[in-house]
Amino acid sequence: MEEEQESQIKVKVSDLTQYLICPRLVYFSARGLEQQGIAKGKERSMIESILLKELAFNLHTIRGMKDDEEDIKRVIEGIVDGVEWIYKEELKGVEKNFFEAVKTDFIRSQSMNVDEWLRKIRNENGLSKLEKAHGGYEREHTMVSVKLGMSGSVDKLIRAGEEVIPCMIKTGKCPEYSVWKSDRVQLAAYAMLIEEEFGTTVKRGFVEYIRSAEFRESQIRRRDKALALQILKRVKRIKGGVFPEKGENAPCDNCVFEEMCETKKTLLSKLFSRR
Ligand code: SF4
Repeated sequence: MEEEQESQIKVKVSDLTQYLICPRLVYFSARGLEQQGIAKGKERSMIESILLKELAFNLHTIRGMKDDEEDIKRVIEGIVDGVEWIYKEELKGVEKNFFEAVKTDFIRSQSMNVDEWLRKIRNENGLSKLEKAHGGYEREHTMVSVKLGMSGSVDKLIRAGEEVIPCMIKTGKCPEYSVWKSDRVQLAAYAMLIEEEFGTTVKRGFVEYIRSAEFRESQIRRRDKALALQILKRVKRIKGGVFPEKGENAPCDNCVFEEMCETKKTLLSKLFSRR
């Protein structure tokens, strides 16, 4: 693809994350083929992820409370109640009764060990100290780089004097040590956007693995930036029309594009087998 044409293709940081799961997801999504709302069979886990994410945005409130279990549960209930307004688009198509049932289960803590979780949340950690010392964080700060042809909205942006620190909320599994490789790449992409907008160097970022209440700091390394840039280029090519190979660990069994993916593969192999 011509370089000029490639530079006009807009990429979101979330496209890079999708590429790391499976490059073909980028291809199908770019063609407007994504399923609207929540994929069938995944409603409960998606709603739980949204509820957890919203809790992560409100940890300062939970941390600032006295040790009264009932009070804490009431605050959690209040946060959870706001979710249907904040995530209206994401929850489109979810039946009201089902949503209410998931919410109730969530509050009753059937999906996590709430005492242990609360204890970990309320323990001070590097991130909570930073937030406390520098007046909290800015929620979902959006950045656009014309130079990179990339935009992104980082969950939390902390301004600690001269230092600007990206922080991402993840509702999935937490790695034993440090952060997942895909999270390092995503942090590096945000770091490049921050560096351009704020004229600074980003040395570190944080990942909140909220399900297990783990808060991990990660250094922004040159090689993560290099990988993010490499993936950015590939994503632009895919968005420009190149059908990519499937990812090494592509989660095909749970993929909404499974049928389309098979059809496309068959069509391509027929085309190339013609003499
Ligand atoms: S079906 Fe598999 S290869 Fe195709 S887009 Fe989905 S995850 Fe990727």
